Amino acid sequence: MRSSSSAAIASKPVPEGGEVIDATGKFLIPGLVDLHNHYRDGLEEWAWGLQLHAGVLTVRSLGSDHGQTPAMIAEARAGNVPAPRIFTAGVGFSHPEGFPPGKLGPATEEEAREMVRELAAQEVDLIKMWVDTFLDTRPKIEPGIRAAIADEAAQYGIPVSAHVFFEDDVWQLVEAGVRSFVHGVRDQEVDDEFVAMAQDNGLTFAPALGQAKTFWWVAEHPELLDDEEFRAGIQPPAFERLLDPGNRAAMLESESTARRRVAYDYVTKFVRRMNEAGVVITAGSDSGAGNIAYGWGTHHELEALVEDGGLTPLQALAAAGAAAAAELTGDPDFGTVADGKAADLVLLFADPLADIRNTRQIDRVMQAGVWLGRGLPAFPQPAD
Ligand SMILES: [Zn+2]
Repeated sequence: MRSSSSAAIASKPVPEGGEVIDATGKFLIPGLVDLHNHYRDGLEEWAWGLQLHAGVLTVRSLGSDHGQTPAMIAEARAGNVPAPRIFTAGVGFSHPEGFPPGKLGPATEEEAREMVRELAAQEVDLIKMWVDTFLDTRPKIEPGIRAAIADEAAQYGIPVSAHVFFEDDVWQLVEAGVRSFVHGVRDQEVDDEFVAMAQDNGLTFAPALGQAKTFWWVAEHPELLDDEEFRAGIQPPAFERLLDPGNRAAMLESESTARRRVAYDYVTKFVRRMNEAGVVITAGSDSGAGNIAYGWGTHHELEALVEDGGLTPLQALAAAGAAAAAELTGDPDFGTVADGKAADLVLLFADPLADIRNTRQIDRVMQAGVWLGRGLPAFPQPAD
């Protein structure tokens, strides 16, 4: 980890024309991998610029590719737009009247299968589904439809990742073949039988703890409103709302926040239990949702995984490193600092193992062997 003391790297000959950096006292980590993001139509370059600035060099877009977003992802992959390495679910599934609005909402199993075939033709990297009532406000996608989606996706070898809240749904989805989850069990404490099932099936969870506490976090930490990287990564109207002390007080007093705190207590216990049992925990910020700023959100999630989820700083780095990379591809060439890998690197001023918040102390970011010019992008002005 300490870059100046790595004998293996120090002994490598410097390639001709190579630049030598004195990183004495600095710390080298792999470019961060964030498995849970939502990009907004027309705001993609802004979001990716924020993530590059924050050292987030691989991302997974989880089901919100609307409008120009698919075309922008294609441009990014072609190298025409600065962006992290992108994996995407395209547009995800929910109940026709479910949340979020505007998703794929098949009425029948055959329609669900047809929609999966269309996504397969678009060459999505995974399929996303939301399985949640959103605090009893929306219907959940039907179990038979979920199973049809998972079964059809399996025909094409496409993995499925499900947003979950209730333990019962995890059991049903695992039965249907789903192994990857975002968020976690938030309605009760799980028992030994659940833990064994999660171990036996190699389940992974990206719990989005930072997003879960966004409903009260800013109100309890108003100093965050002065944090440049937080401010830069949130859409201005949402930031304006947070500046109003009345709105922040309302966040703390609302009945839904009280319910969300109960859910948070369950999900943090869940993450601790899973992590202790060796079930893979990965980093996914849910950036683009609520008050989760792009870039900043990934570091916020790492902090929450340690502070509330009980991960060690090293485990948190793996959650945004090797563990996340393993979920994205069977043969990842990113997510670790090792010979022969893509040179996606973040050089830090301070030791992340001493304090996970030191991942924010960024000196430089290298993407595929090239140092990036860093800077917080301005929110795009409408063209009129
Ligand atoms: Zn999400």
